Amino acid sequence: MFEDETIDVRCPKCGHRNSVLVHEIEEHAETHFICVGCKAGVKLEAEEFKRRLGKVADELKELEREAARQSMRGARPKKDDFEI
Ligand SMILES: [Zn+2]
Repeated sequence: MFEDETIDVRCPKCGHRNSVLVHEIEEHAETHFICVGCKAGVKLEAEEFKRRLGKVADELKELEREAARQSMRGARPKKDDFEI
């Protein structure tokens, strides 16, 4: 599902956010890229990345649940509007 997705990886040296293809990271145990900001080599470990991605997915799920709760709350007064 993340095939062509990119993710912003913050450079540990200068803090520049580099776009890295998610599948690049997932295909290798380690991904190396050159920071656009300071030209430093940055190493990204797939295990660490997946842990963080899992955490983000959990947070997204939580946000979706929250949105669903809110839209349910929002739907109730609308229903009342249709009552004659
Ligand atoms: Zn940098």
